[in-house]
Amino acid sequence: MTSYYRLLGVPEGADAPAIKGAYRNLARKYHPDHNNGHPLSERRFRLLAEAYEVLSDDEKRQKYDRFGPSALTRRGGEAGIVGNVQRLVTNIEQALESRMKQVRKRGEDRRVVLDVALSQAVFGASLAVQVRRRVRCDRCQATGAEPGTTLEACHVCAGQGRIKSGSGLLAVETVCPFCESRGRIAPSPCTGCEGMSEIDRVLDLPVQVPPGTQPGRRLVLRGYGEPGQAGGDPGDLFVELSVKPHALLQREGQDLRCSVPISVAEAVLGGEATVPVLEGGTVTVRVPPRTRSGQTLRIRGRGCPSAAGPKGDRGDLLVKLEVETPVVDSAVALELLTRLEQISFHPERAEFRAALRRHVEP
Ligand SMILES: [Zn+2]
Ligand SMILES: [Zn+2]
Repeated sequence: MTSYYRLLGVPEGADAPAIKGAYRNLARKYHPDHNNGHPLSERRFRLLAEAYEVLSDDEKRQKYDRFGPSALTRRGGEAGIVGNVQRLVTNIEQALESRMKQVRKRGEDRRVVLDVALSQAVFGASLAVQVRRRVRCDRCQATGAEPGTTLEACHVCAGQGRIKSGSGLLAVETVCPFCESRGRIAPSPCTGCEGMSEIDRVLDLPVQVPPGTQPGRRLVLRGYGEPGQAGGDPGDLFVELSVKPHALLQREGQDLRCSVPISVAEAVLGGEATVPVLEGGTVTVRVPPRTRSGQTLRIRGRGCPSAAGPKGDRGDLLVKLEVETPVVDSAVALELLTRLEQISFHPERAEFRAALRRHVEP
């Protein structure tokens, strides 16, 4: 238990003027207004205010001397500000206690999803993931003090960071709530890290996407997970690669597929079709005359490279030609189509109809 006397740096038998004087000095020094509102100085100021609130009131001081701080918080209504501050202190003490008790523990692993274009997954790419990390504050060299200012020993724990109370078997050691185990206090906290010695920084970590990456593949960045506790190793960062679908090309094993719509006339007469390739740009393929809808052309070596095989060993690009039914609404076109229907021969349809007739009249 941190004594209020200790917080104010006065002996237990100190008289009222001594307590007042000590509080005034410390309050002036740690007032948030004099420390740019730093969270640490705010917490320290509240601790001092609580100590003074109790020790400057004869009745509360007597209760505190006899029963400790719990005697003051149990009395609901009357507690007022003392209760609030006491709760705050309790919270801080609990937090610090858990920090003290911690054992060496490896940090948690983290997971991020990285979107990868199909071409990047197939051919490989150098990308980056953004990771937020607590890093040492360079501005104050992790001392927590504004550059050019000095650190002082904490008056509550005499620079030890911990406070011993009791003796012999009953001796208890607790973390000093005033300096929060640091032992030293920066009268002017660093404006870069607010006196915390560490800052959050977003780092761009390079990620090498290997060629032939399949969806759902995970890469591991060792040591880029959550930091470990009490000297434990940090966790790892798992980068899950999410391959974004390509607008025109689909991957199928080592091959790529692409559907290309062609017109009825192109299918009948033949012609050319422009086809996308994964590395960018296009190639032109010849559409043979009398192409059937769904007919597939194979462009050798324009698929995916094999992940393991020799360089240049690539799959194929399979181009499916799909004959599109024309949208026709002019009278002239309708007339032409009717005429075309009369003079054209559809062998598959004829064969189907013949089979149909046999089916109906066996
Ligand atoms: Zn201290
Ligand atoms: Zn700093």
